[in-house]
Amino acid sequence: MFYLKDNNTKTFIDEEKIKNLLEKAKNPEKERVEEIINKSLNKNRLDLEEMAVLLNCEEEELVKKIFEGAKTLKQKIYGNRIVLFAPLYIGNECINNCEYCGFRISNKEIFRNSLSLEQVKNETTSLVNSGHKRLILVYGEHPQYDADFIADTVKEVYSVKSGKGNIRRVNINAAPQTVEDFKKIKDVGIGTYQVFQETYHQETYKKVHPSGPKSSYRWRLYSLDRAFKAGIDDVGIGALFGLYDWKFEMMGLLSHTIHFEERFNVGPHTISFPRIEPALNTPISEQPPHLVDDYTFKKLVAILRLAVPYTGLILTARESLEIRNELMQFGVSQIDAGSNIGVGAYSTNDKEAYKKSQFVLGDQRTLDDVIRQLTDEDYLPSFCTGCYRLGRTGEHFMEFAIPGFVKRFCTPNAVSTLMEYAVDYASEETKASCLRVIGKEIKNIKDEKMKDALKANIDRIKTGERDLY
Ligand code: SAM
Ligand code: SF4
Repeated sequence: MFYLKDNNTKTFIDEEKIKNLLEKAKNPEKERVEEIINKSLNKNRLDLEEMAVLLNCEEEELVKKIFEGAKTLKQKIYGNRIVLFAPLYIGNECINNCEYCGFRISNKEIFRNSLSLEQVKNETTSLVNSGHKRLILVYGEHPQYDADFIADTVKEVYSVKSGKGNIRRVNINAAPQTVEDFKKIKDVGIGTYQVFQETYHQETYKKVHPSGPKSSYRWRLYSLDRAFKAGIDDVGIGALFGLYDWKFEMMGLLSHTIHFEERFNVGPHTISFPRIEPALNTPISEQPPHLVDDYTFKKLVAILRLAVPYTGLILTARESLEIRNELMQFGVSQIDAGSNIGVGAYSTNDKEAYKKSQFVLGDQRTLDDVIRQLTDEDYLPSFCTGCYRLGRTGEHFMEFAIPGFVKRFCTPNAVSTLMEYAVDYASEETKASCLRVIGKEIKNIKDEKMKDALKANIDRIKTGERDLY
């Protein structure tokens, strides 16, 4: 296994600067807060000093402004759309010892399991048959899960056709790779490659990652730079909230974003912000040292939305239904649905799956339930994968992701993919709710030409055509 040894040279995470900015921004003036929110509403990314000001808003009136700003921005850029995906856990063998994770090597109580390609096919078939089009494949870190294995599992997922469906985008959450290995994985046509830094605070990082390749802060911090070098221009960053001060981690996520913009001309495609969930036989997960309460979590998501207007924000089923419903208004753009994080649990309907799981899920509804509840509340669930398949990724995505793009491309594609779901997979009740939202979204399209094109696509879907974008 090849990885960088940590040394004392500086990284783009400037701890002293972050701490100074947070200190200086205490007790912010109302006018300054409004000015910053307005900058964001004009769809500009905030800088570190500006984020520090928002992070220091404690007064109810100011926090309310942040919530309202995030809601407005989310509507402006993303409309009612929510992208849906499912996680597929490929294997939970792991040579690291992350103190918060049930898969860590020293956890002897967990049941270890890795899917064979045959099992990957079965799991994928189950997911396709429930209506999914987008997956994220998740792997522990183990020599068994090398780049060739990851590439083979991705190819297997793409090869599955079942009924009228197939998986159209595979994202990856796996260990950091070398440039050569990232290239192998890119070559099989992945979407986003995610690596979460967990904590940007070096000392805490060292403490919670005592051994294994993940104990190198730098190897992980620069992993997605290597992905860019290998040609993967859709990358996902994240922090695991609960390990260290949430304000510091937010500044870390923004520093990472700015680093990519400066170096590669484009920010990360997505940001994830999991909170530590209870994991089997993993004491630190029961009592995280910097627990983020629900109110703070809401604030955190709203500030992130304002800070990086064009970056996708992912909220997973680690969180409860109530929290997910609330946070969608503040700018979350992707959620998983119908998730089961037990290795091999989709196709076997394994009730004991939690014994093979990394942690316990907060939202365990089926995909059909999630879609019905979303459409009942006028959200537009989307399985669209158009951009990535038309080469609108990385820097090219940013060219498009500017004014009007969502209305021109994302909304019609979301409507088409929701129609496919309604026709092929939905229960009667969910279908009725989907059709109502589809009708409403079509009615709201102002451009008559676009409206007619979408209506024509909907008719083609009714007569059996699929994958129109
Ligand atoms: N093994 C790879 C790694 O660590 O990067 C990828 C898969 S790991 C299972 C995916 C993510 O799960 C980690 O980056 C971490 O943020 C998150 N995670 C681990 N334990 C968790 C817990 N108890 N609650 C919530 N998220 C957790
Ligand atoms: Fe292994 Fe990833 Fe869990 Fe750490 S977070 S123990 S690397 S699976």
